[in-house]
Order: sequence, then C-alpha cells, then structure tokens
Amino acid sequence: MVKLLIALTVVCYFVSSPVFCAQAYTGKSAQQRQEEIRNRRSRLSSKIRALRGKEANLSGQMKELDEQADDLDTSLKELSHDLKVKQDELDVIKVRLAELVAELERRKALVADRVTAVYMQGELTYLELLFSAEDFREFINRAFYLNLIFEKDQELYESVKQKKEEVSQNKEKMEAAISSIAADREKLLEQSMQISRLRQDKSTLLRAIMSDKALAEKQFRELEEEGRRIEQFLRTLTGGYSGKWTSKFLKPVNGRITSGYGMRNHPILPGRRMHTGIDISASYGTPIKAGGDGKVVFAGWRGGYGKTVIIDHGGGLATLYGHCSGYATSVGQVVKAGQLIAYIGSTGLSTGNHLHFEVRRNGEPVNPMSVM
Ligand SMILES: [Zn+2]
Repeated sequence: MVKLLIALTVVCYFVSSPVFCAQAYTGKSAQQRQEEIRNRRSRLSSKIRALRGKEANLSGQMKELDEQADDLDTSLKELSHDLKVKQDELDVIKVRLAELVAELERRKALVADRVTAVYMQGELTYLELLFSAEDFREFINRAFYLNLIFEKDQELYESVKQKKEEVSQNKEKMEAAISSIAADREKLLEQSMQISRLRQDKSTLLRAIMSDKALAEKQFRELEEEGRRIEQFLRTLTGGYSGKWTSKFLKPVNGRITSGYGMRNHPILPGRRMHTGIDISASYGTPIKAGGDGKVVFAGWRGGYGKTVIIDHGGGLATLYGHCSGYATSVGQVVKAGQLIAYIGSTGLSTGNHLHFEVRRNGEPVNPMSVM
C-alpha cells in the first residue's frame, strides 16, 4: 500500500511543475504530513500540558494571595476598629483634660481672689489682718482659719493639678497607642497594596497563559482535524484491496502506441524527461478498460494528467490512466480486468486525444510493455 502511495508522488514528480500538484495531497506528502502532524501534535500536547500546569500553579498562587488579602483585610478591619475605640477614648480624655484645666484655672483664680478679697475687705495686707488681732488668741485663730482656708484651697488646687497630670499622661499614652496602631495600619495597608499588585501581575500572566493555551488547543484541534482529513484521504488511496493481480495486464484501449516508456523530448515541456508510461492514441470518447482486477483508489483531476483513474491491483501494483475525458467508475469501486472505467480525452497537459497509461510496482514506474 505504501508503495502505491509512493507511486502517486512520483506521478507528481514526473509532471514536475508544482502547479500540477496543487491538489490536496499526494500519497507520500500525505504520509509525510501525517508524520509531521503527529510530531506537532505531540509537541503541542506537551506545551498544553505545561501551560495547564503553569495555569494551575498560578491559580493556586492567586488563591493563596486572595487568602492573604482576606486575612489582611480582617486585620485591617480589627485595627481600624481599635483605632476608632482609642480615638473615642482620647476624645473623652481630651474633654476631661479640658475640664480639669478649666477647674485648675478656676482654683488658681479662687486662691488669687481669696487673697485679693482679704486685701480688699479691710484694705489690709494679709499680715496686717493677722497682726490686727486684738490679742494673741485671736491672732492665732485668725492665722489658723486663714491657714485652713489657704490649705484647703491649696489642697484642692494640688489635687486638681495632680488629676490634670494623670489625665495628661493618659492622653499621651493614648496618643502613642493611636500612632502605633496607625503605623501598624499603614504597614498592613502597604502589604495589602503589595498583594494587590502581585495579584494583578499574576492575573495578567494567567490571562497570557490562558490565551497561549487556548491558541495551542486550537492549533491542536486544527491538526487533529487535518489528521482526520489525511487519514480519510489515505483510506481512499489504499482502498484496502485484498486481491492480488498476478497476470499480464490487458491493453486498456485499442490504439496505436505513439510514445513509449523511457527518456524522451517532452511534447510540451522543455527538455528531455522521463516518460513514465506509454501513450496510446484513440479517438475522443473511446472506452478505457481496467488493465486488471483491482480497486479504484483515485478518480479525479491530477495536475498535468488531467482527469485520471488509478487502480490498486494489490501486491504493490497499480495502474494509472491519464488525460481522460470522463469517468465510468468512482473511488472505492472494485473492478474486473477489462471493465469500462473511463473515456479517452485530452485533459491536462496533453496535445491530443490519447491515453497515458502507467504501471507502477512498489511505487516505481515500470515499462507497461513488459507487463502486458
Ligand atoms: Zn504519456
């Protein structure tokens, strides 16, 4: 079967101009293409596997980053809450401090007032007040009460001052706590932003990988599709003919042999070329008969050969009928020796009505005269 495929390629080589081989595939090129497709598919499949691995890996990393971001978010919320609570406390402290400062001022004023009042009352100095006592006992009493009042004022003043100090310290502590929390919060925000940027990068990478993967998968599917088409083509070519023609071939058409097998000056193309078959002259429409039992593996236009029929005879033997005007058979048909398969014409690279008849053994052209 392989040999038959090679034969079909040789046909194209004979015709030599690529224009004539513009049809889908020759057997050999189909096999080569098939091999190429297998290789490319295996490469693509590794690539797709690798990309899938990368994709899974990146998705995993992104999931991790998402979890980290969630944790950070929770911590940030907690810190923000702490901050709010502390700030509220600070507000309370500030109010309390303001109250204390005011009270302290009031106390200070009170002490001053008291002294002023003492002066004002009798336009006496504090000492005069003391010394204006009529006797020592009164003096002592006055001194005692005055002292008492001053001491009370002083005590109150001191206690307020003390409280003010305490609250002041509280305020400082609170402010320190707040600025520490705020700093922590800043750090977390920075981390959160880093994670967000990292995630963004990975997301971009993931998109690129997914698009690469999609492209590779598309290429893979296209190759699969082409592989199927080639397989189909190869099936029609190799036909699966189970018989084996061993007899001499019949002359496919009655007529004069106008050109023999071998090197010759080509009737149309320049230079000497190998003539891989024989030309049998006959009038237009003359029936062409199968040279032997076999299966039709090709019936269609084949470059310079024009309308062509190829029959697989099994055992590596094939015959080709070129320049036909029409077909009387189709691909896949099993034919008997002498059965009508086509009609004489001048299609393809031909100068007049005739049959170009070829015999191939294991792909190589053989002189048809030697097997007829
Ligand atoms: Zn010929």
